[in-house]
Amino acid sequence: MQGFTDDHEQFRGSLRTFVEREITPNAVAWEHEGQVPRALFQKLGELGFLGVRLSPDYGGAGLDFWYTSVLVQELMQCGSVGVTVAIMTHAEFATKIIELAGSKELMDIFLKPAIVGEMIGALGVTEPGAGSDVASLRTRAVRDGDDYVINGAKTFITNGTISDFITTAVRTGGPGHSGISLIVVPADTPGLTRRRLKKIGTHSSDTAELFFDDCRVSARNLLGQENGGFKPIMQGFGGERLVLSLIACAQMRLMWNAARQHGHDRKAFGQSLLDFQVWRHRLADALTSIHAAEALMYQGIDLYVRGEPCNAEISMSKLFCTETAISVARECAQIHGGMSHMEECQMARLYRDSLAFTIGAGTSEVLREIIAGASGLTPERQRR
Ligand SMILES: Cc1cc2nc3c(=O)[nH]c(=O)nc-3n(C[C@H](O)[C@H](O)[C@H](O)COP(=O)(O)OP(=O)(O)OC[C@H]3O[C@@H](n4cnc5c(N)ncnc54)[C@H](O)[C@@H]3O)c2cc1C
Repeated sequence: MQGFTDDHEQFRGSLRTFVEREITPNAVAWEHEGQVPRALFQKLGELGFLGVRLSPDYGGAGLDFWYTSVLVQELMQCGSVGVTVAIMTHAEFATKIIELAGSKELMDIFLKPAIVGEMIGALGVTEPGAGSDVASLRTRAVRDGDDYVINGAKTFITNGTISDFITTAVRTGGPGHSGISLIVVPADTPGLTRRRLKKIGTHSSDTAELFFDDCRVSARNLLGQENGGFKPIMQGFGGERLVLSLIACAQMRLMWNAARQHGHDRKAFGQSLLDFQVWRHRLADALTSIHAAEALMYQGIDLYVRGEPCNAEISMSKLFCTETAISVARECAQIHGGMSHMEECQMARLYRDSLAFTIGAGTSEVLREIIAGASGLTPERQRR
């Protein structure tokens, strides 16, 4: 496995300085505001952090996914999962898919400004009636002259209200996955309305419902072929699931370090909590789980970077890292006692934020189905 080289570590150093100076001091305020400011995207864009693995033809750095891994790990050092989610939704989920399928014209209109942080992107796939079952989505785009007219709704869309464009999955054909297209919808399109949702966690990332009411969008905003949208959506899941694995592992490290510190500092019955063997063992178990999760994740990243088939391995990585994060969060919260329930405590915020990641970009159940399918466990009649 290649892993991180000196060049990756140099990149890490420059990011660390930026995060310490520009993000960490503001992260709690952004949690309360429910979003990250546009200026953050602009600063990240100026420094080249938003197009890390996007093509240099459009202003990206054209680097491998190990650099994206460094980006996620260092963003997470600010202690706010929502900040990382907002930035990575833009820098990976909404834009990589445009690069995968878009025309040169769309790169100029959306990808280039996104890479320099002048535009913010969102990815709109999930609908009120279609989440895991992407192929059943119903938001319809009907061709009318040089435009598509879009009607329908999306939900749980990260960057939903702060974005300038939404890479949107729509139905242009018949039922099932072969009738789905991707259209980039400018956020100022008449007929598009957005409503921010209140969440129980990841507060600094804005999540919204989107309503499309006769939204007229140029047919040139179609990504790739009409009815050819399902494949790039599935291709995009590889990077998305690794990003969520990285977030979960970085989050576990933050929580574990906080738990260790608290275990040293907090006294009960005349001794530190870590003087109780039970806490040494519980944190030893948690650390073992973190190492196992990281090993699985790095294996997935390595295969992905080398272009090997790795759908099952990436699914295992996301499944194990995000499920483990919840159990590690519970252990690390428990040692904090009452503080683990207080808004002012970073551990408390990380604890609740861990709940989102067994859902987004493929639920744990969907991932188990992928792993089962790749392992020959799924009966012939149920294979799709
Ligand atoms: C914080 C957050 C941010 C998000 N950001 C985005 C975004 O930016 N863009 C976007 O498009 N979406 C986004 N999502 C939506 C996310 O991708 C969906 O929530 C997810 O795909 C699940 O869909 P659903 O919520 O409709 O649940 P459902 O699909 O209705 O699933 C409900 C339950 O049924 C289970 N289930 C479904 N199918 C099966 C099956 N075949 N076998 C067994 N169990 C099954 C699921 O695992 C789950 O436990 C976000 C979600 C969250 C929580």
